[in-house]
Amino acid sequence: MTVLVLGGAGYIGSHTVYELIEKGEDVVIADSLQTGHIEAVHPKARFYKGDIRDIDFLDELFKKEKIDSVIHFAANSLVGESMTDPLKYYDNNLYGTMVLLKSMVKNGIDKIVFSSTAATYGEPENIPILESDRKEPTNTYGETKLAMEKMMKWVSKAHDLRFVSLRYFNACGAHKSGKIGEAHEPETHLIPLILQVPNGRREQINIFGDDYDTPDGTCIRDYIHVTDLAQAHILAVKYLQNGGESDIFNLGNGVGFSVKEVIDKARKVTGHPIPAVISPRRAGDPAQLVASSEKAKQILGWKPEHYDLEKIIASAWNWHKNHPFGFAKK
Ligand code: UDP
Repeated sequence: MTVLVLGGAGYIGSHTVYELIEKGEDVVIADSLQTGHIEAVHPKARFYKGDIRDIDFLDELFKKEKIDSVIHFAANSLVGESMTDPLKYYDNNLYGTMVLLKSMVKNGIDKIVFSSTAATYGEPENIPILESDRKEPTNTYGETKLAMEKMMKWVSKAHDLRFVSLRYFNACGAHKSGKIGEAHEPETHLIPLILQVPNGRREQINIFGDDYDTPDGTCIRDYIHVTDLAQAHILAVKYLQNGGESDIFNLGNGVGFSVKEVIDKARKVTGHPIPAVISPRRAGDPAQLVASSEKAKQILGWKPEHYDLEKIIASAWNWHKNHPFGFAKK
């Protein structure tokens, strides 16, 4: 059965394609290459360049390929950018998903697994966070993802379509082959930015605030390996194929690390002193985000394999030290 991966040239999308192909699945990728990389496209996947906001592109794709399920990663995901250019996020994330659902309904495609985020919660009321906890996003990115979930909910009530929404915490690490990894331009995520220091691309890492209500004053996050996220998508597709109801799941390790702890682990992994400088807080950052993923473990049978943050950072370093400029050759 063929799986369509929208955004399969991006970070989490490309890792999911690698895992699907390793499991012998037939994979079609569609990606606009706006932020994705052609080099990240698995050679065994059939690739189509196009934008999910283009309904003719999607209709033709669904007519040409016999798609059983869709995994939807095609979205913008930079929190800071979402605050300065909110309409870009409403357009690509929300309107793009609306066009996609229209085309899926029209073409009788009835299963979709899609990327959501811990940013849907905003400032959490409890740690670890449960799926049913309050959702009040503090940035446009999280708001558009929450709106995407709600759109799926209402569409699934009206039409023959079921969805699984996966709320990721902090995706990190890279594929064991060393062929693909994280490559955003501009980069805004903590671990790749830290690793730019030993790579000689930056002098220091800035710690965004050390006056949070946490033990060392820096923000706490739940770091989850990208391959574990990829496995969850595959399990979610199987769950829908087996008749599972539409549902929403958190994906994290359930253990929080502060920004200072992450930097310390990166020092150990790389052997570089990695100078760190305290700088002002970044707007919209909650003090602590740690997932309860019990629901995904129980219902999807998800078993994340990468618990040790040092090993996760080592897998990221294995990619970044050999690709200091990502996929670009500079
Ligand atoms: N962070 C930081 N310095 C940086 C980048 C990020 O201190 O140069 C902090 C950020 O404030 C947050 C954590 O690292 O508390 C993780 O940020 P990231 O952007 O990687 O992921 P997010 O939690 O925003 O999804």
